[in-house]
Amino acid sequence: MTIASTARTQSMSAAELEDLDRRHLIHPHQRAAQHERHVMVRGEGCHVWDAHGTRYLDMTGAANWLAQVGHGRPELAEAAARQTSELEYFTSFDVYSNDKSILLAARIADLAPEGLDRVFLTNGGSEGVDTAIKAARLFHSRRGEPDRTWIISRRFGYHGVTYGAGSASGFDHLQFGAGPFLPNFEKVTPPLPYHREMYGGEDPTDFLLRELEETLARIGPDKVAAMIGEPVMGGAGVVPPPDDYWPRVRELLGRHGILLIADEVVTAFGRTGAWFDSARRGMAPDMIVMAKGLTSGYAPLGAVLMRTDIGDGITEDQGFAHGFTYFGHAASCAIALANLDLIEKEGLVDRARQVGEWLRDGLASAAELPHVGEIRVVGAMVGIELVVSRDTREPLFAGAGAATAELRDVHQVITRDYGNTIVLAPPLVLDRDDAARATRAITEVLARLD
Ligand code: PLP
Repeated sequence: MTIASTARTQSMSAAELEDLDRRHLIHPHQRAAQHERHVMVRGEGCHVWDAHGTRYLDMTGAANWLAQVGHGRPELAEAAARQTSELEYFTSFDVYSNDKSILLAARIADLAPEGLDRVFLTNGGSEGVDTAIKAARLFHSRRGEPDRTWIISRRFGYHGVTYGAGSASGFDHLQFGAGPFLPNFEKVTPPLPYHREMYGGEDPTDFLLRELEETLARIGPDKVAAMIGEPVMGGAGVVPPPDDYWPRVRELLGRHGILLIADEVVTAFGRTGAWFDSARRGMAPDMIVMAKGLTSGYAPLGAVLMRTDIGDGITEDQGFAHGFTYFGHAASCAIALANLDLIEKEGLVDRARQVGEWLRDGLASAAELPHVGEIRVVGAMVGIELVVSRDTREPLFAGAGAATAELRDVHQVITRDYGNTIVLAPPLVLDRDDAARATRAITEVLARLD
């Protein structure tokens, strides 16, 4: 049984699907020895159903920080059907274009912070990060500074897995055995205020700025093209920086003509209670990379939004020799437009803040538990950091995985574990009852951790 016809797939049992999955589908981040599978087949609102018919409360945005408008929205299915029957695809290479990619670029520019109005479309976040890195280097090169090639990023920052984005990502295991990754990438320490011991008693922002200045001096500030960072680190466990961190980084980079790229793949489109999180953190980025919430996951799509002069600079001379076949795919763009309409019409950007408040209130007693070090809430993103002891703040790595499995298998609540942190990033349409159900289950499971 190696080829599954559509008819056959539709009548397949859960066990058959799981077996085919084990034999043919390579999963990111899964070890061969892991035989467990959870095959999802349907979604509606904040719930998904697996092939066994079990219903789960999705507290993770499809286990990947998206699903802003919830699962199974007919408005987005209709947008896809309408567009594919009108025009499924036409390239935007060279002089060609399609109406939906134009409308989407204009819409993104409309929502964007002042001064950012040029948009390059991609299929997702990693491609967006690669695109931004290329654009930064090319921009400098076209202005007569071809030696500005270095890219600064942060340890525990996540920017994706292609060789460019993977070189910027700050998790060593992403590179093990697959190197060499790209030269001229440098990592600095991230702001993780809960782990203040990292800063040797110094104010975290003072420490980090001093380290960044030293790093620039070592490389040569006129050799650095850009720094990239998530406004709030997601994969590091939902970590907002101190208020003065981004303004001071911005000021330092600006002094040396270094561009700042905000990786808003997770944070944009309402997730943190703002259209773009960087705008309110004093980050004032020169480029913003976005994906996930742009379509709520209904189609693969990302974008890089950039300053007017950067967009103009990279298209001079030979033009921007960069582009993907599915750049500005008409159906993906039509879905994105309908998705942004829903986010706006249903007030989901504001609702994210409300969702965060419900989750914070619901987790109030969990915050006092002996293995809960810190609970961080940023809009509708929550990180629950588990520790061996609150005194030492030593990470409790096994706890997050075990709790996540129990929440899913016993309580039918899907959460995700990132290292020693349990992460929540639910659809923004989550209601109060489901928020209470999730936080009750989480509190109960964490209370039994030892
Ligand atoms: N940047 C951030 C902050 C992300 O969280 C991710 C994915 O989770 C990426 C980039 C990579 O995006 P993609 O998986 O769409 O390539």
